[in-house]
Amino acid sequence: MPTFRSWGVALSIIIAPALSAQTTAPAQSAVPIPPTLKVFDPSFIDRSANACHDFFAFANGGWVKRDTIPAAFSSSGVSKDMTDRNELVVRSVLDDAMAQRHSKPAKSTVAKLGTFYASCMDSARADKDGINPIKPQLDSITAIKSRPELVREIASLQTDGVNVLFNFFPAADPKDAAHYIAWASQGGLGMPDRDYYTNSDPASDSLRRKYVAHITKTLTLAGEPPAAAAADAARVMALETELAKASMTRLQRRDPNATYHKTPVAALSALAPAIDWPVYFRTVGLTSPVSFINVSQPDFLKRASILLTTLPLDDWRAYLRYHLVSAASPWLSTPFVAEDFAYGSLYSGTKQLLPRWKRCLRVTDRKLGEALGEAYVAKTFSPEAKAQAKQVIDDIRASFRDRLNKLMWMSDSTRRYALSKLAAMNEKVGYPDTWRDYSELRVVDGAFAPNVFSANAFEWQRVANRPGKPVDKAEWDMTVPTVNAYYDPSINEMVFPAGALAPQTFDATGDLASNYGSLGGSWAGHELTHGFDDEGRRYDAEGNLRDWWAPMDSVRFTGQAQLIVDQFNGYIQVDTIHVNGKLTLGENLADFGGLVTAYDALERALDRTGKREVIDGYTPEQRFFIAYAQSWRSHTRPEQLRTRVKTDPHAPAEWRTNGPVSNMPQFAEAFHCKPGDPMVRPPDKIPHIW
Ligand SMILES: [Zn+2]
Repeated sequence: MPTFRSWGVALSIIIAPALSAQTTAPAQSAVPIPPTLKVFDPSFIDRSANACHDFFAFANGGWVKRDTIPAAFSSSGVSKDMTDRNELVVRSVLDDAMAQRHSKPAKSTVAKLGTFYASCMDSARADKDGINPIKPQLDSITAIKSRPELVREIASLQTDGVNVLFNFFPAADPKDAAHYIAWASQGGLGMPDRDYYTNSDPASDSLRRKYVAHITKTLTLAGEPPAAAAADAARVMALETELAKASMTRLQRRDPNATYHKTPVAALSALAPAIDWPVYFRTVGLTSPVSFINVSQPDFLKRASILLTTLPLDDWRAYLRYHLVSAASPWLSTPFVAEDFAYGSLYSGTKQLLPRWKRCLRVTDRKLGEALGEAYVAKTFSPEAKAQAKQVIDDIRASFRDRLNKLMWMSDSTRRYALSKLAAMNEKVGYPDTWRDYSELRVVDGAFAPNVFSANAFEWQRVANRPGKPVDKAEWDMTVPTVNAYYDPSINEMVFPAGALAPQTFDATGDLASNYGSLGGSWAGHELTHGFDDEGRRYDAEGNLRDWWAPMDSVRFTGQAQLIVDQFNGYIQVDTIHVNGKLTLGENLADFGGLVTAYDALERALDRTGKREVIDGYTPEQRFFIAYAQSWRSHTRPEQLRTRVKTDPHAPAEWRTNGPVSNMPQFAEAFHCKPGDPMVRPPDKIPHIW
């Protein structure tokens, strides 16, 4: 799976005018881009803070003191600022598409985008319709009279994008990376993680009670009498608790070998006999036979099958009804939207709903991302910006290669293979070479929820018959306007969408040292190192899950990585809760490897260009570290931090800054820090990995 850089929630966003399917010469930006972001901003610095005591407070403290998190957000900072800027431009694109939707051919990208967005924006219609837009699906759940009908309904809801019982999807086969295999993995929970169901602390008890109250309220809004809704909510909670108990923890799932169980389809009926697998495959739209399936958690599927046989059909109907209404709630009438928001706020801490246009813009990006991406690129991403970003990435590659060649702890056989894996690593920068065709997507003027389910089904049909076929290496897992990036170990590639390659990440006309600290360190170096973190290192150059390490090198790697686990276990996440060093290990390794590699890349670039000037009173090395810290500029609500410590493999921003920086003697040198300063960790605690 891709490992995302970012802030827990993928924030995507966009820009663009020319929406024709065949974009020609990029039009230059007609829409002004507010506000001005810089890769290095001296006004964010708190000069009263000591860089050697708390570097995050030094680099960002000026901003933190002035900032208030807006009511509709769970955090503020770089991600929100870049996203806000993009959204203003994207909005103008969608407004134009909405105005033109009836004058363009029905199959054109403009008509699809305009109709989808207009239907989302029609709040008056949503309020008038109430529950009606999903009435047909609710009736179909009510009509379930037998176990086989139950399984068919589950399959059908899954293809509409409703998360029930388990996840079924095609993805690269971890041990035959050139081909897709069908995966069945644990799923079907309404709380963010299985631990919420099993933890016995008071905070978890309270959240469970609030979840049951939320289910009750949701089902009441959908038309059930309150007493019946309360009884149904208890059934849903009991069913999900059974699923949660049979689910692997997030830590267990970090071992890719633990989730690989390639199973012949013929053996599925023994594993999960309650599911008539040929009927299931037909219902989800598989037209060609599948011979193998990767059952990520066999114990989970076994348990699901037992529950399908033993629990009363009433329990299952309540469960499916709740999940259907819950999936549609953001797009139904105001009471549903308000209840959905109130429940989500328990985990995010947000105080206010986003404006409707932002919610509609985001769902359009999620469902029709490449239709927007094409226009975004035409508008904002110049070939020059792409070339300059590529130069930074090239320097990162070269520096990582040099580091590999010099590692003292690694044997030559492992080193040779690591070098070949690095050389084989693919990269995508900016946007795809070809754009997805949406002409067959069915969107209609009318209620929005059915359009969302239709878009989910369209996407499902696009990929449903992939098992057994060659992996499409041209595919992007993030939309072009997204402010994020990823490394995908299953095809050994790193991907940087155009939406991220803008200030505050990167400025093609800006200061070199700042660009190497931000794009070089926390983006390119970070994603590249994911190929060699504790999970990524288990995959070979082609993306196969295969051990290419000499045993002694694995031992040495693990010993050094443990120093990072210990380091982050020592940091506080929120309240008195510590960061989970094991859960965040892959990201922390990527941050550290990324930063040391980017530092070398900066020195390489400074030698090449001779630009060693002092700017705003700071040397290039100082600007490099400040820009790195400022790329993590953020400020997060405590509710969100409490959720993330359970669900997010990324540590909080201040530790993603201070953690790696305090392991670097080059940092101490740049800021004249002394042994014993908090930002100078003792040499015996500093890991030597990449
Ligand atoms: Zn990452």
